[in-house]
Amino acid sequence: MNFSIIPNANPISDTARQTILLNPGFGNHFTDHMAVIKYSEDKGWYDAQIVARGPIMLDPATAVLHYAQEIFEGLKAYRLSDGAMALFRPDANAARFNQSARRLAMPELPEAVFLESIKRLVDIDREWFPDVEGGSIYLRPFMFASEAFLGVRPSREYLYMVIASPAGVYFKSGAPAIKIWVSQHYTRAAPGGTGAAKCGGNYAASLTAQQEASAHGCDQVVFLDAAEHKWVEELGGMNLFFLFEGGHMLTPPTSGTILEGITRKSIIELARDQGLVVEEKPYSIDEWRNDAESGKLIECFACGTAAVVTPVGTVASEAGDFTIGAGGPGQITQQLRQQLVNIQRGLAADPHGWVQRIG
Ligand SMILES: *Cc1c(COP(=O)(O)O)cnc(C)c1O
Repeated sequence: MNFSIIPNANPISDTARQTILLNPGFGNHFTDHMAVIKYSEDKGWYDAQIVARGPIMLDPATAVLHYAQEIFEGLKAYRLSDGAMALFRPDANAARFNQSARRLAMPELPEAVFLESIKRLVDIDREWFPDVEGGSIYLRPFMFASEAFLGVRPSREYLYMVIASPAGVYFKSGAPAIKIWVSQHYTRAAPGGTGAAKCGGNYAASLTAQQEASAHGCDQVVFLDAAEHKWVEELGGMNLFFLFEGGHMLTPPTSGTILEGITRKSIIELARDQGLVVEEKPYSIDEWRNDAESGKLIECFACGTAAVVTPVGTVASEAGDFTIGAGGPGQITQQLRQQLVNIQRGLAADPHGWVQRIG
């Protein structure tokens, strides 16, 4: 696809950018450019651009504002030890974007175009890389129904965009282990629903549960399955792993109601590489509590692109709290996190070919 590249005529000043990059936080600041590609039923994908980042004007009848036909992705650009920018398994994001598109009755974007849009954006905004602990440029590709029409059917027009945001560490508390809240009343995804697609609607539906978690002093909410309210599924935006005595690991299976994380997939491979037994098997909330109390469960962590690997120290619910291990970050959790981060940043060998250099 032919991208027209129109550099921002009024980029943020060097000094303002440098100030932002000292403490970028997560999702607060944005780079100078964005990628935009249009789609219509007649023309297919057309008019690919890298342009100055800025507001978009939408008709109040734009379909996404009413029926939420929208999907997104999240990935990071890292700086390797030799100074080159690189992406981690971006082909997996491209493939998942199209899986989400199919579930939401949206057109697929050729994977090569998805990858090119991201690489071109990172290339033009590479000065936005924050040289802070855990720094990255977080990339947010998304697509939404842009036709102005109120009938309920798939839109005939879409806009695909990518924005970029310099990022430091995700959890602002910086706590060594998070506390999570088990939602007894709300569910995230039901069989046959959109739980396996990365769509904004899933997040909208998770917010009241997240509020409930915050009200109980928790950082995140963990959802149980919709049918039996028994099986542990995932957090609002992160997958879960459980580690048992003897080096045995378990993560819930992605059978339609869990988002198949790329971090999850990578952790499974890394763990197996070093001889850990990893099972994708349902795990109930009762087993979780009993195993934590008996000491059989020694570590637990959540994982996803934004926060990478985050230890879970305490699980709270209406039935009372329980602590995993000593309530702090576990040894295997930290080791897996470090291995993954080292590969992402070019500090360790990359035997699976996960890292893609840009330029
Ligand atoms: C994005 C996401 C994840 C994590 O996926 P990664 O590819 O590892 O970033 C997990 N759960 C949900 C619901 C998500 O939206």
